[in-house]
Amino acid sequence: MEEPPAKKAKAADPVSENIDNLIENIKNSPNNLHAILNLEIHDSIPTEKVYVGHIKNSKDLSITILTLNEIIPLKQLQHLKRVRKKDVLLCPTSYLTNNSSIQEFLEANVPSLRHVFEYFKEIEVPALPPKLKRQHFEFNKVWSCNFHPNEYLEKMAVDNFFNEAELKNHRMYMAIAFDVAKFYLEKTNNVNLISSLNLTNVTVIVDPSISSIVDIAFDNRENHPLQHSTMLAIDNVAKTQNGGAWNVDNKNGIDNKLWGIDKELLDDLQQKHDVCIGARQVRGKNESCDDGGPYLCTGYYVYTIREPCIMCSMALVHARAKRVFFCFENTSFGALKCKTQLQNVPFLNHRFEVFTGFL
Ligand SMILES: [Zn+2]
Repeated sequence: MEEPPAKKAKAADPVSENIDNLIENIKNSPNNLHAILNLEIHDSIPTEKVYVGHIKNSKDLSITILTLNEIIPLKQLQHLKRVRKKDVLLCPTSYLTNNSSIQEFLEANVPSLRHVFEYFKEIEVPALPPKLKRQHFEFNKVWSCNFHPNEYLEKMAVDNFFNEAELKNHRMYMAIAFDVAKFYLEKTNNVNLISSLNLTNVTVIVDPSISSIVDIAFDNRENHPLQHSTMLAIDNVAKTQNGGAWNVDNKNGIDNKLWGIDKELLDDLQQKHDVCIGARQVRGKNESCDDGGPYLCTGYYVYTIREPCIMCSMALVHARAKRVFFCFENTSFGALKCKTQLQNVPFLNHRFEVFTGFL
C-alpha cells in the first residue's frame, strides 16, 4: 500500500527554517557590531629602518637637533620625536646611497656634527603615526611619538560602540532586509534561499531622526545591470525629494510609501517588527526642494545584506549616507572591507561609518 503524500507545511520546510534561524540569530545576538576602520588601526603597522646616533655630550643636543631639522628634515616621519634620551634620530637608512656609512653621510652633509656622536645603530620605527592609545603605548617602547588622542575613534575601535537599545534597532533593520529577501526569493521559487542570498542583495534605508524606514529595495540586476538594490534604494529616496531617474513599478497604488515594494510585504513587516515606514516628507513633482529637507541620504543609515560593491558604495558617498551596515562580506566586489575601504579614502568629500558583525 502506497504511503499518502507528505503534507506541505511551510513550517517544516528546512530551507525556510534555515533563513528564519538566520533572521532570529541576527535579531537576538548579544554581540556588538564592529566598525571597519583604517587598516592600520587593526593590522600591524609598517615600519621603517632608521639610523640613530648616540650623542657623546648632552649639552650638544639642542644644536644637533636644530642642525638636523634644517639639513635632514624627517619629512614623512614627522610623527616621531627627534630625540630619545641621548639617542638622536638621524634619517631613514634609505637616504644613504652608494654603500656609504652613516658617518660618511654625516661628514658629507652635516660636517659640523661629525664628532658629536659616540656610536650609531639601526632601528625599526613605526612608519605611520599612532591613532589609538594602545598603539601609542606600543610605539613608545620603540621610539617616542607625537600623539593626539581621539576619543570617538577610541570608542569605535573597541567593539562596544552601540548601547543595547541602538544595537536592538540595528539588528531589527538588518533582520528586515533578510525578511525582504526571503519574501522575494520565495516568490520567484528559488529552491535554496540560503545559497540564493549570495547572489542577491536587499537595501533598507532608515531615517534615524524619526526611526522610520525611508526605502527598501530588492536587487533587480538580472534585468538591469545597474539596478543593484543600493542604487535602486538611493533612486527611490531621490523620488521622495522630487527627483529619481528610474521608473519603478509602484506596487502600492497612490498611497505608496515605498516604491517597488509589495503592500503585502510592507504590512507584514509593520506587523512583525512594529516599525515605522515612510520619509519625513514626500515632495510632489512640482514642489520646491529648498525647504530645508534632507539632501538624498544625509543623516540616513543604510542596511544591506551583502557588502556593497564599488558602484553602490560610491553612490552612497554621493548620497551622503551617514552609516552603512552590512551582514555578509562580498569577497569578489566588496568596497567597504574586502576589496577596498572606500570609507577610509582620504580625498573623498564625504565619509560614512561602516559597521558589520551581525552574525
Ligand atoms: Zn552594487
